[in-house]
Amino acid sequence: MHENQNLFVALREGFPAELDGIAIETADGPGAPLFYTWRDIERATAMIANLLDSLGLPAGARVAVQTEKSVEALLLYLAVLRAGYVYLPLNTAYQAAEIEYFVGNAEPSVVVCSGRNFGWVSKIAFKAGTRHVFTLNEDRTGTLLDRAAFQGDTHAPAQKWADDLAAILYTSGTTGRSKGAMLTHGNMLSNARVLKDYWGWVKGDVLLHALPIFHVHGLFVASHGALLNGSRMIWFARFDPAAVVKRLPEASVFMGVPTLYVRLLAEAGFGREACRNMRLFIAGSAPLLIETFNEFRERSGHTILERYGMSETVMLTSNPYHAKDGERRGGTVGFPLPGVGLRVADDRGGLCPSGEIGGIEVRGPNVFKGYWRMPEKTKEEFTADGWFKTGDVGKVDGDGYVTIVGRSKDLIITGGYNVYPAEIEGYLNEMDGVAESAVIGVPHPDFGEGVVAVVVGRPGATPDAAALITALKGRIANFKVPKHCFVVDALPRNTMGKVQKNLLRDAHKGLFLG
Ligand code: AMP
Repeated sequence: MHENQNLFVALREGFPAELDGIAIETADGPGAPLFYTWRDIERATAMIANLLDSLGLPAGARVAVQTEKSVEALLLYLAVLRAGYVYLPLNTAYQAAEIEYFVGNAEPSVVVCSGRNFGWVSKIAFKAGTRHVFTLNEDRTGTLLDRAAFQGDTHAPAQKWADDLAAILYTSGTTGRSKGAMLTHGNMLSNARVLKDYWGWVKGDVLLHALPIFHVHGLFVASHGALLNGSRMIWFARFDPAAVVKRLPEASVFMGVPTLYVRLLAEAGFGREACRNMRLFIAGSAPLLIETFNEFRERSGHTILERYGMSETVMLTSNPYHAKDGERRGGTVGFPLPGVGLRVADDRGGLCPSGEIGGIEVRGPNVFKGYWRMPEKTKEEFTADGWFKTGDVGKVDGDGYVTIVGRSKDLIITGGYNVYPAEIEGYLNEMDGVAESAVIGVPHPDFGEGVVAVVVGRPGATPDAAALITALKGRIANFKVPKHCFVVDALPRNTMGKVQKNLLRDAHKGLFLG
């Protein structure tokens, strides 16, 4: 018989021999601290997997989950892998219209939701043909666990090939309708193994887990990393910076989106003392401002390691962990990970020389199988020679470091000239009183698109829009200078910290149209 390539089996192999040691300790939420041993994970996932098996689901059945973050929600994910079904995590912020779209599109056989949402979620799910709707609450109540409690606590993991589907991740849809990225057991396992090695996970590492688990960052990168390494997790259902700072001394690894780093820095108690046992801080999912990178180094003595990836590919590039491989360079996302091919293409399908900006294309064992039930879209997003077009625009410098300058859909074409928003944002962010900015293109009768800046002031400062535009005029080509600048309190962001430029474009679409 061939080796079972089920991702759960590989993660399970990472558990320490001593199954009665603590695997997860909750830091907040009902009943905290709760302690889960490795044996608890082994038994609870078996019970939930047995429950799923007892439902007589078709092969490849999707299990869609929209619940608050809890250890049990993680156990459910692992149980779905174990039983060989396809996990479909849904952002807790999604409302009825969004859930209707995802459930209609993915046709899950099972839906798991919070008890308080059962009424409307089950109505949508049953209407779409879903047979089973369970509830799972933060306080370990709900019908899922009620039913699982009557199941046996041993379970032989389903036999899987590397190419079998393990999860469907709907993309965050900041630039259009969300698509379901199909990830296989092989995609995720190959990536998790590469990261374990590249980031130098060692015995005794403790991960402070404070990210949501409906997204690639918290669910795959963070959780797989700890499980595969047999590492204890300190588990936060919510990111509370003061509480996180208190628990940091017990941890050695932390992963966060840039906003979490900004919030840590805003904590007076955050500094070298809190980080005394830390080995590694990792950032990703959105660009980390160079000021955050620098300030973090000064305050904590640690250099954040920034990496880049996406739902469709898991992780693609990373700054080096070991000094021998190079420095961690702020503003860059490092080197392509071992096994990942990365190239930069121009608009005509040719390749860009080093240092030139173009579309980032990738290939490797981590690259997804395609978009769920969208063969045409999938075909469009791959080149004839099999590279995936990430939709990110960037460059590779002479030393091999990759820099992301934006999404191709955010690229502004004004009067026939290309304007990369990240370049203008970089200049704006350096100006007095500016905390951050977003540059967008909106319809313009003469130029096709007109450049518009939306700026957030530093605490206590109110930047003057006209002065910012004047300052830019002296520094960059006129076609790049925003024709209009708005000063606002905050930029719209999704839960992963990504600026929702589609909302900004929408808000200002009539600006030049009279
Ligand atoms: P998602 O599929 O929701 O994880 O979003 C993936 C997208 O997030 C990528 O295509 C990038 O545009 C962006 N992204 C992820 N990590 C970084 C990073 N370190 N710097 C800049 N953008 C990033």
